Amino acid sequence: MKIKIVGNLTPEVGVSEKYTVEKVKEAFDTKPVTIVPEQPDSEIKWNIYVKDAKVWRLANVKEKKGQSVTYKFSEISSKAKDVAMIVEAYGKETLIHIKPQPTSNPKITSIELLNVLKKIPTRKFAYGDSIIARVHCVGMELLPIVVTLWENDGDKQKLKTTNLKIDTQKKFVRRGFADVKFYLNPMHVNLANSKVDKGESDEGKYHEYYVTAEILGKEESRKATLDTHVANPDYVEKKLIVKNEIATKPVMEVINSKMMVDLSNSQSWWPFKEDNCGGKYCIKKGDKNELIREINIRLAGFGGNVPTDEFTERTERMIKQFQRDYMKVPETGKICGNVLNAIDEFCFKWNEQIAEYTCLCKNLNSVTDKCSGFGKGRYNGVYKTATQIERYHNYERPGIHRSLLWGVSSLRFYLSKQSIYKYLWKTAGYRCWDHNNSVPRKTTNHMGKAVDIQFSKNGITIQGKRQSNLSLLNEINDNFFAKFLNAKYQWIDGKNNFSIEPIGMNEGQTWSWIHLDVREFDNEYLDDKYFVKNQEQVSNGSIVELGEKLGFSNTCMCEDVRNNSKNERVDPKVLKTSSNGKQFIRDWEHFKSNLYNDDSEDRNCTIGYGNLVHLGPCDGSESQEFKNGITESRALELFESRLVEFERAVQRDITVPLYQFEFDALVSILFNCGASFFAKGKAPQLHKHLLNKQYEKAAKEFLDITSGGIGGLVKRRKAENNMFLNNIYDSTH
Ligand SMILES: [Zn+2]
Ligand SMILES: [Zn+2]
Repeated sequence: MKIKIVGNLTPEVGVSEKYTVEKVKEAFDTKPVTIVPEQPDSEIKWNIYVKDAKVWRLANVKEKKGQSVTYKFSEISSKAKDVAMIVEAYGKETLIHIKPQPTSNPKITSIELLNVLKKIPTRKFAYGDSIIARVHCVGMELLPIVVTLWENDGDKQKLKTTNLKIDTQKKFVRRGFADVKFYLNPMHVNLANSKVDKGESDEGKYHEYYVTAEILGKEESRKATLDTHVANPDYVEKKLIVKNEIATKPVMEVINSKMMVDLSNSQSWWPFKEDNCGGKYCIKKGDKNELIREINIRLAGFGGNVPTDEFTERTERMIKQFQRDYMKVPETGKICGNVLNAIDEFCFKWNEQIAEYTCLCKNLNSVTDKCSGFGKGRYNGVYKTATQIERYHNYERPGIHRSLLWGVSSLRFYLSKQSIYKYLWKTAGYRCWDHNNSVPRKTTNHMGKAVDIQFSKNGITIQGKRQSNLSLLNEINDNFFAKFLNAKYQWIDGKNNFSIEPIGMNEGQTWSWIHLDVREFDNEYLDDKYFVKNQEQVSNGSIVELGEKLGFSNTCMCEDVRNNSKNERVDPKVLKTSSNGKQFIRDWEHFKSNLYNDDSEDRNCTIGYGNLVHLGPCDGSESQEFKNGITESRALELFESRLVEFERAVQRDITVPLYQFEFDALVSILFNCGASFFAKGKAPQLHKHLLNKQYEKAAKEFLDITSGGIGGLVKRRKAENNMFLNNIYDSTH
């Protein structure tokens, strides 16, 4: 007897298919197959294997059991080299090869709500958490979807809902899904609570949030998750004892498992394994590869850069600037999945149209033998003077330099952030020798290395040869070209930088436009390969796909934990210590049920979680309650009420915006060092750096607050430093 699998070998992705194992009689079988006793379903096992590149791996889907099972294949399975379905039944094993087919019917199939580590949450979400909404799609590769977080006010079904829209983000689908991170901002607690007045009867213990996703521009494609319950902190705090009881019970998983909403009622997702790498796979300073070269080109306008394959100091600054200004996330200066995704988005939104750069000879009747748009490749290695510098090089470069193009992209991005100055158009891109001769003109900068750009101020075009233009152009240069592209005026210190032609009324100066060029790049960075003539070469494909092609799949799939998109620093007055922050502090303080004298110089009388009873050692004057010793839940209560003092101290003394994790780290320090730590000037450097928004410098100062190097304090300060900088709550010690 043999066994075989019956089912669709070419299933459409996103569609459930049934597979059945059957017995087949062979010629030499002496007994009819039906005599074989029926095997219980639980002993028939199904597994899927996938071949990526050269290796087979077990697909990340649970083993299934039974004579018949259903599978639904995901988008990414259609990209695998091979997919095998293996069944073990009746003491035999057999295999079929499956070729999942891409679908022509793009749709959103399900939305999963995951925790910040991209895992199924093991507890309810809380304010201060981030939610990752993973939207699974088919037939949507590299297309944009719109994902929205809502607070449910009881009007969920309609498109024109009156529910409160908390945040909306656009994301591109890759490998069959898109992850969107939402921050449950503690500032929204009041917003949600304000709904109670409008007739919502039970807006008490929990606030209800849900996520919708739709194909960009197609509202009718909108899908929604079930509600997820977020504890209302205002409610819980009034019932502290109850809360402690809840905390000691097993974590309720039921609600969270319901949040995985498969809209087609099948559980057979085949998710791509995506562990957060905690920065392990990020590309960073000192690395060297072609992906870095491509990024050095595309982000050149963020502080200036040359197309090197090395991750230099400059690359780090460039990434930081991109993270700060474009992504609006903390600056890590490292490249991980989220940075790559953001680069793709930036390129999609801001890529330059190469057609706007074609040679001006096309406009001249006097030039009869016109170039193709980017010169004729003449005079390579021919110089006007004996000094062989680029300024005098006659070479008609084969296209426009990509670093220049992307420099203009970033310039346009920055200009879009204000409304006084507007980018209008290019007045010159390429100018070949025939065009030059017709003027006549000698400079060869515009043979692929330069662009002239025209602007307006308050809606009025800056044009004509007017003295009054000059101050405006200087303003644009100072506030955009010099500030963000680090462009050098008049090629001074221009080596390997963008340069600006001087602004003025004379020959060789610019009076109604700004001239940007890459003339001062070293020769190796002016190689022919950096000059392009068609639109495809400008973008050169998706950076994520390039990363995968070059073997950086881990990097592409890993998002740096620190990068909480949309999670901007906020006024500390709206922050409270997060549950992670509280746990962290308690882990350091350790629970003690009886009175004890702490480690400080004054040996202060203490109980519970480092809860000060009075200054100086315990002396018998303490209340009977404390003398009897307290329970852990009483200690938690004391801890919660005492914490407020330190939160207020941070809010009083630190008047600059903070991230939740920065706030938590500062509360932890004050909890340990005293509420008046800043007010009494005990850490003047730290305080000063914070007030100057020099967050990284401030974090460094933590490491000095160790009472002369007490071991436990050294470790705690390191952990607080890590929390403040990296949003990592690690209290192991
Ligand atoms: Zn031409
Ligand atoms: Zn020019």
